[in-house]
Order: sequence, then structure tokens, then C-alpha cells
Amino acid sequence: MLPALPPDRLLLGPGPSPTAPSVLLALARPTLGHLDPWLLARMDELRAGLREVFRAPNGTALALSSTGTSGIEHVVFHLVEPGERVLIGSSGYFGARLAEIARRAGADVIVVEGAWGRALDPDALRKAAAGKRCKLVALVHGETSTGVLQDPRPYRALADELGALLALDCVTTLGTAPLEFEAWGLDAAWSCSQKGLACVSGLAPVCFSARALQAIRARRTPVASFYFDLALLLDYWGGARGYHHTASSNLLIALHEALRLVLEEGLPARWQRHERNARVLWSGAAERGLELLVPEAERLPALTTLKVPAGVDDARARKMLLERYDLEIGGGLGPLKGQVWRIGLMGHGSSERNARLALGALCTAIDEQRRRG
Ligand SMILES: *Cc1c(COP(=O)(O)O)cnc(C)c1O
Repeated sequence: MLPALPPDRLLLGPGPSPTAPSVLLALARPTLGHLDPWLLARMDELRAGLREVFRAPNGTALALSSTGTSGIEHVVFHLVEPGERVLIGSSGYFGARLAEIARRAGADVIVVEGAWGRALDPDALRKAAAGKRCKLVALVHGETSTGVLQDPRPYRALADELGALLALDCVTTLGTAPLEFEAWGLDAAWSCSQKGLACVSGLAPVCFSARALQAIRARRTPVASFYFDLALLLDYWGGARGYHHTASSNLLIALHEALRLVLEEGLPARWQRHERNARVLWSGAAERGLELLVPEAERLPALTTLKVPAGVDDARARKMLLERYDLEIGGGLGPLKGQVWRIGLMGHGSSERNARLALGALCTAIDEQRRRG
């Protein structure tokens, strides 16, 4: 075998985003045991940092040793017992994944589907539930498959009407767009390390309200997963601190550094940076005649979907960007396959330079295809 030296790609797709340089350095520090007292003290700081970025000073937060999808499973498998009713709003690939996971949890799932590329209508969910009691209302804050930012605020009142808890997929929005766990009355949220936080993938931050913890304690059936059991994880993260699984000290220290960078920049400044650079991309695209999938008021700052112009091959353009410029952008998922490009300006990757660079490179690819056919 030869040493594996990855090419230096510029990651401007739906994730992973570029790892911040000091986070990469943090990964290369000495490995510690998962029960090392020095590491446990950093994990306390990490939990405090997560409460800050979720804006949940009274929440219970930790990071699962796995990716964003495990956050969905963790939350859904804890807040829902087999046979209980769940109301899900879905207008994209990750909403559909959320519904599929709820079905696998044995829930009685009501899915309200919205158009891909548009925000959901809270009244459509209200009508679909028709006053039936539900255990959980769940939706996706930033739908990375379409580039839509969903305002979760109207859903607190709906959840109250249904006697339900409210959970939110914040995988693309944590650290990139305003998110107020407590002010919005959320009961659970999950995210990942590799998008807005500019760390590598492998950790999934989760956050629960006191009400959610109470509901978990009141379960009639045990949580089906041992690896993701919150009570066991809390024992490791803040209780008896015994062995549960061999958490990666390198990943935890990397996330610690990533959170330190987020808090050093300040959340409002970071949200504004994402908004500002997204607008550079949006107005630049409009100037060059590229159409955006999502109406301006519903756009997700961290991820923009551009329509592939007629006669242009989406995959060929992305291949050229990767091979010629070491630049990664995303293609469409599901019904949007071949229809859109997805450009992510997330975390460390959200800069005016990257917005202009991605657009310029993409336009070069389009022009070349048009010229050569
Ligand atoms: C990326 C993403 C996920 C899945 O995260 P993984 O880390 O790939 O498991 C879930 N939800 C949304 C909205 C995402 O963007």
C-alpha cells in the first residue's frame, strides 16, 4: 500500500463543508482514553458549548458518536413508543427520511407532504391531524435537498393543541441560521458536526428540553437501542462516567475546537455571514440568468439550489468542476435529480470568495457545454 493523501478539494456541496484549519489540527493531537479526566473536563465544556449554540441554556445536550442521521433515530426512538401517533411535515429528502425513521420506530405516522422547494403550511399539518392527540410533531429546519428554510415557530402552538412534543432537524442550520431552541419552545433537536460547525463528520449533537426528558422517563417500553440509549449516554457524559462505548477523543476535541470558533465569532455574526454570502451567490446567479428553485423569503442561507439550464448535463458539469478545479458541489436528490445543483456555503466555507468562485466555475462549465454541445 501507498500512503493515502487526499486531494485538496474545496467542499461547496451539501456537506461535508470545509473543515476549519484549527479543527484539523485538533484532530491530530494525541489520542486519550475515553475516560481520561482531562477529556471528561473538555466534554463538560463541549456540552456547555452545545447548549450555547442550540440556545438552550436549560437544555440537556451531548454529542452522539455517529452522524446526523443517528440524531433523527436517537430523538424519534426516545420520544415515540410503538403505536403512538407522530405528525411529520415533509417537503424534501430529509423530511421523507424523518418519516421513514418514525415508521421504523413503530409509530402511527401522519405525513403532510409539501412541494419540494417550498416551505410547509402549518395549517395543512393542523388539518391533517384534525385535533387527534399526537406524541410528536417533527420537521426539518433546513431542508438540504431543496434549499428551503422552514420557520418552526408556528408549530409550537400546533404541538400544544395536539398535546405533542416538538422536534426539529437542525443538521444544516446549527451554526448557519438563527435557531432558538428555548425561545421557540423546541423539545428536541439534532445536528451533525460536518456542516455548519466546520468539523469533520462523526458526531451528532442532540439537545432535549426538560419536558422531553420527562416524557422519556415516563416511557412504558425500554428504548430499543443500547448504543443510543440516552440514560446510558448521560451516565457517561455527566453521571457515573463509566464505560458505555469508546468515544473518540480526537473527534470530541475537534468538535470542542469547532464550537470554540463558533462562539468566538458569535452566533449573530455567524448567521449574518451566512446570509451575506448566500446573497452574493443569489444575486450573482440572477445576473447570469441562472434560476433559483426557492422563492427568496424561504431560502436556506447555507445551501442554495440552482436550476440546471435546459440542455445542460448536471453530472457532466459537476464532474468537470471536481476534476478541473478540485471543487465539489452537489446534485439533486429524488425528484430533483438532474434538475438542480446544490451549492453549500457552510461554516468555514461561507465566504464571498467561495460564493463567487463556485458561481464562476459553474458558469464556465455551462458555457463549455453550450459551446461544445
Ligand atoms: C445531512 C443531513 C442529514 C443527515 O446527516 P448525516 O450526517 O449525513 O447522517 C439529515 N438531515 C439534514 C437536513 C441534512 O442536511
